[in-house]
Amino acid sequence: MDIIHLLPDSVANQIAAGEVIQRPASCLKELVENSLDAGATRVQVIVRDAGRTLLQVIDNGIGMSEMDARLAFERHATSKIREAQDLFSLRTMGFRGEALASICAVAQVEMTTRRAEDETGTLIEIHGSDVVRQEVCACPVGTNIKVSNLFFNVPVRRKFLKTDQTELRNLLTEFYHIVLVYPKVAFTFVHNDEILLELPAGTEKQRIEAVFGNPKRNVYTSAFVDVSTETEMVSIHGFVVKPESATRKAEQYFFVNGRYMRHPYFQKAVMTAYSGMLASDYQPSFFLYFEIAPEAIDVNIHPTKTEIKFADEQAIFQILMASVREALGKFTLAPQIDFDTNGSIDIPQPPTGEVTAPRVTVDPTYNPFHTRGAIYPDRAPRNWESLYEGLPTSRNTGTPEYRDAGMPDLPVDEQLRPEEVESCPLWQYGNKYILVPSANGLMLINQHRAHAAVLYARYVDQLVHSQGAMQQLLFPEVLSLSPDDMVLLTQIAPDLRAIGFDLEQLSPDSYSVQGVPSQLVNQSPLPVLQHILDQVRERGADTQREWREQIALSLAEQSAIPYGKPLTEEEMRDIVSKLVRLPQYRRTADGKVIVSLLTDEEINKRF
Ligand code: ADP
Ligand code: MG
Repeated sequence: MDIIHLLPDSVANQIAAGEVIQRPASCLKELVENSLDAGATRVQVIVRDAGRTLLQVIDNGIGMSEMDARLAFERHATSKIREAQDLFSLRTMGFRGEALASICAVAQVEMTTRRAEDETGTLIEIHGSDVVRQEVCACPVGTNIKVSNLFFNVPVRRKFLKTDQTELRNLLTEFYHIVLVYPKVAFTFVHNDEILLELPAGTEKQRIEAVFGNPKRNVYTSAFVDVSTETEMVSIHGFVVKPESATRKAEQYFFVNGRYMRHPYFQKAVMTAYSGMLASDYQPSFFLYFEIAPEAIDVNIHPTKTEIKFADEQAIFQILMASVREALGKFTLAPQIDFDTNGSIDIPQPPTGEVTAPRVTVDPTYNPFHTRGAIYPDRAPRNWESLYEGLPTSRNTGTPEYRDAGMPDLPVDEQLRPEEVESCPLWQYGNKYILVPSANGLMLINQHRAHAAVLYARYVDQLVHSQGAMQQLLFPEVLSLSPDDMVLLTQIAPDLRAIGFDLEQLSPDSYSVQGVPSQLVNQSPLPVLQHILDQVRERGADTQREWREQIALSLAEQSAIPYGKPLTEEEMRDIVSKLVRLPQYRRTADGKVIVSLLTDEEINKRF
């Protein structure tokens, strides 16, 4: 008997769908990109339950004929390319004709669509690749696609969806990537009947403001400096923030030819332009749009990838860095940077660049603010404690001190002494705080942060002395990574080994994990490692000292006792006595308050 047979289309589509549609966010991206390709000027997104039950996109684009409405759901059906050649001069978003076929293979889809020249529209309903209804209908010009019960027939996929919160965040992230390059298109985003975003048509700057403007995400469009450069190779325009408007968590976006891209190497170029201007662990927000001949970039053949390769990354690195510097220099009215006489810095190699590195001469210590004598008034440097040393204490000024997250730390004489903690009474409140009476009042200690601080110190110590205790895994696991995460992991792998991970590179895009730090045996190692990578990447830790700090922070955060956990008296005493032995225990290494004092005065005042 012959054993080879062709897969039925529905199965083939489901397999293909796995590549294109991994989660509601990828489905949303495909639908909205189709609307934009169809020339829509208004796009409404309606979501229920983070896209699990409903994802609907309504546009006023060109619509489809009755025939096209049916064809659109066939695999490799596209109105956008006819020859493989076209792939290289691609300007539209979609191009493989796979999205709708994939979506309808794993969901229940209902679409109405009408072209301006047609009197009636078409309604088509498809469940798991089967057309269940197709009829003439009355509907406005444009297309309205409703995707219900995503992955209804793929339980495994459904199971891998994260919490609604996370999936909604993914949806929004994907949405931002698109709306930031289409400021002239009006968008709305509705989730569970609540309008989350209402974005009128406008300029790029207005769009950024509408999405991220302070106070939404701390992006100060008033602090934007325009960047604008035209060269033969590339033109770059957009905005970067003035250095004093940098924030701890910045919004950093690159777009190329109307698409979002991730580009850690170019991110470095921007950071280099700011060097010497930012307080440590502050980041500038930026929104930079590149236009480049399509031939000069590696076309993003895989629809879900956001990395893009450029033909000459080092040259663009220099152009980008110089134009950001120029923009920052202009606004400070400082003299133009003299690229020839101020010493030199190396342009780092791009991840896989083969070209030899040209050198640009820039003064890495150039700081327009210092030359103008300005300081950062509202900036809390990392070692903020030293700033408040010698401040009057509440007792000798006679004024009770109220503290919140933004206030200085407790004076030295209000600190808990390790001896006191050995025998004092301890209570737990709300499964979240440990209460400890002290000489001046009642100490409230955040249990999770306290434990994380204790663990952080321990991890740092283990990293420095390479003393992490390792526990062999019974079944090694495989960590598959994107190219830039591979680069990152390879870079920090020696430190991960120092702390107890047993890692070995398996292939160009994966590592095997054979052992984990013994404190983490009960956790699955892959998410733990991914968390570390995300943290190192997001915090832009690119020196060993910085990434060690982030590794320790990430591990501490992941292994600390959670909120909501009842603690025995013994456990509480253990945490508190270790905490108070730390040289600095008021705040976590990333600045969050651990301990707060409710003073006697505050308590007495209540009676
Ligand atoms: P691709 O976008 O790669 O061509 P899709 O599966 O996403 O593939 O879409 C298939 C085709 O359906 C598109 O080429 C387009 O002709 C048509 N189409 C899809 N969505 C819309 C829409 N919102 N408005 C008009 N036409 C659409
Ligand atoms: Mg498409």
